[in-house]
Amino acid sequence: MSFKFNRGCWVESTENGWNVLATGCGETPEDGTIEGASVGSRSLRTMEGRIVLARLLMDKFGRRLLAEKTIQILMSRLNRGISVSHEAMRDLGVSGACALCDEKEPEGSCCSTGLENKIETPLLLINLLLGVKIQRTGQRKGSCFFLSRHGCTLKARHMLCIDYLCPPLERQLGAKNLVRMQMATEEEIQSLFLLEEEIGARISLWLRAP
Ligand code: SF4
Ligand code: SF4
Repeated sequence: MSFKFNRGCWVESTENGWNVLATGCGETPEDGTIEGASVGSRSLRTMEGRIVLARLLMDKFGRRLLAEKTIQILMSRLNRGISVSHEAMRDLGVSGACALCDEKEPEGSCCSTGLENKIETPLLLINLLLGVKIQRTGQRKGSCFFLSRHGCTLKARHMLCIDYLCPPLERQLGAKNLVRMQMATEEEIQSLFLLEEEIGARISLWLRAP
């Protein structure tokens, strides 16, 4: 599957083997079978299916995950990383420029429809662990499922969402500030990656030996 990313740049979406692993214990939103995870309106290929599965996993493993020391450390690193990124976005004028773009441009911000396909179950689960109340429907026509009038409704975003700046904004920032922006997002990106790996490993282990 491929989909449009940020006006004109196409990226591939990978089906995440982690989802299939999670269905191994019968945790499928559709009919309780692995086959059911890839068909139907609530399959893992749909956002609704992924949200349902993330909630099921949260119910089943959330408390246990939050009790793990490594997960706690990574969650705290992620929270810190998110704050540092947001602060840099504010200080360097990125937040203001993107809010203005969303308001003024006919197509709104570059959080285009289809980008939600990059948000897979592990990232949704991380958002639930962070206390985010995932909203059920896309609020804005032509925009990503998770975009509200006030910006992204997710706290933990995909790496592409964290990293992407359009060429005009890059030019406006200049090389020095671009480096500052990249350095500011480092902890968020790293801890997100490590957290996703750790959660996948834990759940995989617990599924094999409950
Ligand atoms: S990155 Fe560029 S296109 Fe995307 S919202 Fe910001 S200003 Fe607009
Ligand atoms: S997940 Fe959030 S940041 Fe990423 S495209 Fe959607 S609304 Fe934008």
